[in-house]
Amino acid sequence: MDEREAALRQAHGHAVRWLASLSDRPVPARASVDEIVGALGVELPDAPSTPADVVDLLATACEPGLTAFPSGRFYGFVVGGTEPAALAVDWLVSAWDQNCVMRAASPAYTAAEEIAGAWLLDLLGLPPDSAVGFTTGATMANFTCLTAARDAVLRRAGWNVAHDGLTGGPPVRVIAGQDRHMAIDLALRYLGLGRPELVPADEQGRIDPEALRRTLTTAGVDHGPTIVILQAGDIHSGAFDPFTESIRAAHEAGAWVHVDGAFGLWAAASPARAHLTGGCSQADSWATDAHKTLNVPYDCGLAVVRDPSALRSAMGLRGEYLIQHEHGDPVDKVPELSRRGRAFTVWAALRSLGRSGVADLVDRLCRHARTFATGIRAIDGATVLNDVVFTQVCAEFGDDERTDRVLARLLAEGTAWISGSTWHGRRVMRISVSNWSTTDEDVSRTLSAIRRASS
Ligand SMILES: *Cc1c(COP(=O)(O)O)cnc(C)c1O
Repeated sequence: MDEREAALRQAHGHAVRWLASLSDRPVPARASVDEIVGALGVELPDAPSTPADVVDLLATACEPGLTAFPSGRFYGFVVGGTEPAALAVDWLVSAWDQNCVMRAASPAYTAAEEIAGAWLLDLLGLPPDSAVGFTTGATMANFTCLTAARDAVLRRAGWNVAHDGLTGGPPVRVIAGQDRHMAIDLALRYLGLGRPELVPADEQGRIDPEALRRTLTTAGVDHGPTIVILQAGDIHSGAFDPFTESIRAAHEAGAWVHVDGAFGLWAAASPARAHLTGGCSQADSWATDAHKTLNVPYDCGLAVVRDPSALRSAMGLRGEYLIQHEHGDPVDKVPELSRRGRAFTVWAALRSLGRSGVADLVDRLCRHARTFATGIRAIDGATVLNDVVFTQVCAEFGDDERTDRVLARLLAEGTAWISGSTWHGRRVMRISVSNWSTTDEDVSRTLSAIRRASS
C-alpha cells in the first residue's frame, strides 16, 4: 500500500467511526480549544511525518473537541447535515481536485454544474433560463446577486460601475424588510452600498407590502436606481414575505427585486409547502444555500439571476492565459477564480433524493418542527411564539431568566443542541430543523430533554 492509500484508509476509518458515534454521542463538544491545542501540539516539526500518522494524530486529538453538527439532534442556528451520496462524492471531489474555472479545462465539472443548476431551477420553481452560480454559502450568494443588481440598476441609469466605480455616480437606494438576515447588511457593506432603508414587518417578520409601496414612492415618480430585498424564511419564525404584492410594488417603481431564501426557498420543492413561496419567481435574483436544507457538506451556496447577462457582466472576466468559452464559463457567475467542484455534491444529493426525495425531506423537516411546537406547548409555562409554517420554532419559558436557564441546562446535559436568541426583545429558544437524518425518535428524545431542562 502506498502512503497515499494508507492515509485515505486511515481517514475512512476515522470518518466511519465519527458518523457511527452520532446516534449517541453528546451533541456539544467535550473539550475546549486550549485542550485541543494541547493535544495537537504547537511546535511545527522540523522533519516530515507519514501521511497516515498525520491523519491519525489530527483525528484522535480533535475528536473530543468536535461538535456533532451532523447529528439528527442538532437544531442550532440553521445548519444542515450531510446526505450520504453528497458526503461520499465530496471525498471524490477532493481526490479529483478539479479546477472549476473553465468549461474547457474540466468538461466533467461543467456538465455536472449545468445539470445540477437546471434541476435546481426546476425544483425551486425559478425561471428556467436563469444563471446559477455555485458560491461558498448564502452570504456570498447574496453578495453575488446584489452585485449583479447594483450594476444593472446603475447601467439603466446610464452609469457603468465596472468602468467608473461608484464615486460620482447616481445614488442607489436599497430597501429591505426590518427583519432581514444580517448577511444582507454584510453584502451591502462589501458592495459600498451602505445600510439599507428598512420597511416595517409584521410580528412574524413579514415585510408590510403597503409600507414598502409608500417607501418606494416617497422619492416621487422619477425613480432612481433601486434594489428591493425580500426574504423567504425568517430565521426566527420561518415566515415568508408576501411576494406577489411586494414584487409588484417594487417592479412598478422600476426596482430590481432580490430574494434571500437561504433555507426558505426550498419550500418550493414541496408541493405541500410551495404556496409559501408563491409569487417569488417574479423576482430578479435569488440566493439560497445547498449546505442547509439540501444537506450537502460545507460549503455551498447558490446565486440565481434571471438575466444571465447581468450576472456575467458583474462577475465575468477575461484573461489572456485562460481558455474561455464564448457563452461563458463557470467562473463568469461567481466572485472566485479557483474553487472546489461544489456542483458535484449538489448533483449527487439531487440525483440520490430525486424529486420526491427532496419534497419528502422538506416535508419531514416541517413535520418535526410542528411536533416540537406541540410538545413545547404542553410544557408548563412554555409558549411557542411563532406560527410554525416551516422549519423554525421559537419558544419562551415564562421569562427571560427561565428561558436562558432551560437553554443552559439543555446544553449541559448534551442530548441536543438548541441555540438561544433575542426576538422582539425577549429571550427565546430557537429550534431549526434542518438535518435530513433527524428521526421521530430524535425529536422525542429532544423533547424529553427540554422537559427535564425546564422542570
Ligand atoms: C444562513 C443564512 C444566511 C447566510 O448563509 P451562509 O451560508 O451562512 O453564508 C443568509 N440568510 C439567511 C436567511 C440565512 O438563514
